[in-house]
Amino acid sequence: MQGQARTLEAVRDDFPLIREWGGVYLDSAATSQKPESVIAALSEHYRTRNANVHRGAYRLSSEATAAYEGARSSVARLLGVEASESLIFTRGTTESINLVAHAWGLNHLEAGDEILVTELEHHSNLVPWHLVAGYRSARVVGVRLLPDGRLDLEDYRDKLGSGRVRMVALTHISNALGTVNPVAEMARMAHEVGAKVLVDGAQAVPHLPVNLSTLGADFYAFSGHKMLGPSGIGGLWGRPELLGALPPFMGGGEMIREVFVDHSSYAGLPHRFEAGTPAIEAAVALGVAAEYLMNLGPERIWQHDRALVSYALERISRIEGIESYGPVGEDRAGVLSFNLRGVHAHDVASMLDERGIMVRSGHHCAQPTWRRLGTVGSVRASFYLYNTPQDVDRLIAALEEVRDFFG
Ligand code: PLP
Repeated sequence: MQGQARTLEAVRDDFPLIREWGGVYLDSAATSQKPESVIAALSEHYRTRNANVHRGAYRLSSEATAAYEGARSSVARLLGVEASESLIFTRGTTESINLVAHAWGLNHLEAGDEILVTELEHHSNLVPWHLVAGYRSARVVGVRLLPDGRLDLEDYRDKLGSGRVRMVALTHISNALGTVNPVAEMARMAHEVGAKVLVDGAQAVPHLPVNLSTLGADFYAFSGHKMLGPSGIGGLWGRPELLGALPPFMGGGEMIREVFVDHSSYAGLPHRFEAGTPAIEAAVALGVAAEYLMNLGPERIWQHDRALVSYALERISRIEGIESYGPVGEDRAGVLSFNLRGVHAHDVASMLDERGIMVRSGHHCAQPTWRRLGTVGSVRASFYLYNTPQDVDRLIAALEEVRDFFG
């Protein structure tokens, strides 16, 4: 990465799979690679302080608890969250959205109410709302996607005007197209009509500076495995006054105040939403990942991703027969989504794999996006802090071979 204390070479060296494997990994939107420090944190936890948290009167348990809560503070700092108890550890974005859909939706939605989503959403910000809308006889309505990969903000304004919108659930960055939505403006508009705002930050936290104290979201969901952390851990932030007023999503140990045979009362934040034994070592390692991102600098990571995608867009535009998707401009994250006309995306991806290039193909869990764009999916190359312009060059060279093969 240019213009920063650590060189891109040094950063790449932190990632064993990048360092030791000869291929080009361009699927970080699906999951990121992990630096040594995160991998080491997992084993160090088991070697030096493995015990259950919040339970033991003995020292090892106190140390495990301190590491777990320390990780919460690290992630809170990365996200500009002051009250770290308003940050809940979950299994990831999917669980976080389900938590809000159920704990908030089942208690606030009435028949005929509307949940306003967008045609850019990942299925995990659609299906939980479909479920809860079904239970409450509410409706899920979608903001239209324009052909350039941006949301139609006029359509958004119109749909907000129905007088029935109670929740706006939208993604910060589209995993399919790389569109960065104007979340702050959209949240302001939603609040004007009294709606709450949930933002799916799965693709944003790894790539952008995110400051939840100023963004305007009411709830914000993210996944650890996309931001250098382990799988099975992620988070949900909520405005303390909103989150603190919600009933639990799941019941069990750790989340109670008192339990009787026929009823129970619940702990405050954050424990109310962390039923059962959490993924302790994964949370600790996620804290290390958050520190890694802060040390490198989210703004630098963003500039690096932006530079790579601009370069990739420019190079791919010169290949004949390529159709690429998503906006061109400042509101574009490091996702390159495209098709080679007349060739199935899976065939392109397999042929790229034969040349050592790992990309994703398919609908990327965003079927409504592709339906609106008049196709079924794409090949997707996604960039992250360890990718280089040479990775882009290798992708383009391999793509030219694939194009020549299919004539
Ligand atoms: N939202 C977006 C925008 C995503 O890209 C993803 C994963 O690809 C998810 C939600 C779901 O994340 P997870 O599977 O980690 O819960």
